[in-house]
Amino acid sequence: MLPRPKKRLGQHFLTDRHYLDRIVGAIAPAPGEAMLEIGPGPGALTERLAAVVRPLHVVEIDRELAHALRERFPPDVVTVHEGDALEFDLGRLPEGLRVVGNLPYNVSSPLLFHVASFADRIRDCVFMLQKEVVDRMAAEPDTPEYGRLSVMLQVRFAIDPCFRVPPGAFSPPPKVDSAVVRLVPLGADRPRASDESRFANVVKAAFAQRRKTLRNALRGLVEPEAFASAGIDPSRRGETLSVAEFIALAVTS
Ligand code: SAM
Repeated sequence: MLPRPKKRLGQHFLTDRHYLDRIVGAIAPAPGEAMLEIGPGPGALTERLAAVVRPLHVVEIDRELAHALRERFPPDVVTVHEGDALEFDLGRLPEGLRVVGNLPYNVSSPLLFHVASFADRIRDCVFMLQKEVVDRMAAEPDTPEYGRLSVMLQVRFAIDPCFRVPPGAFSPPPKVDSAVVRLVPLGADRPRASDESRFANVVKAAFAQRRKTLRNALRGLVEPEAFASAGIDPSRRGETLSVAEFIALAVTS
């Protein structure tokens, strides 16, 4: 029997075996891997992963669900970290970490930013998210979906949308379609921002008011000369800039 879902924790439990199989197939767990599942809930995915990867680390905020998982699995099979994944230090787990989960949709963007801050230690991530969020993560410039989330993730990861999952695969069904996506950190030779926090500020300001030109949106943050040296017309809008152009524009003078 599934526990009564708590809406405020974004609880939609995966119940469809076909999609469970497909997610396990996308993750392709192998013995000896270091793996963290975010939001294990009642443990449908957990059970499948822990049959292969031991110990499987899980971080779950819901006290009752975390307790039930501890009752069900010995700690050397599933190590339960009870708490908020947004505050969980992924640096505690071995390098080459794989991060997976059917994420709580209400905190999916902050969770993606949090996980991205540990990209150096991560081998890959396989997440189920709202399909609309996956579309934004993978979006190209000059499309309505392209925004801060696209740029901040694409600067660190190759993003590969895998497949769609309908609402009926969950209990209770969410109001929206879901999708599974894989994120693989880019190599050390990737184009990098010279100052990552400045890059983040420039990207944030460029998308804060999408209709503004870069000249106006970045006033006080990016000097006119910086546009010239990056070869970017300041009358363009942020949504037209590629990740590489954002990197060029955010160079510290
Ligand atoms: N993995 C399960 C499944 O597929 O059936 C549950 C997925 S459900 C969409 C999201 C899970 O994340 C819930 O178990 C919820 O309690 C948990 N959760 C919500 N917010 C969280 C947070 N900030 N940190 C850790 N877990 C969280």
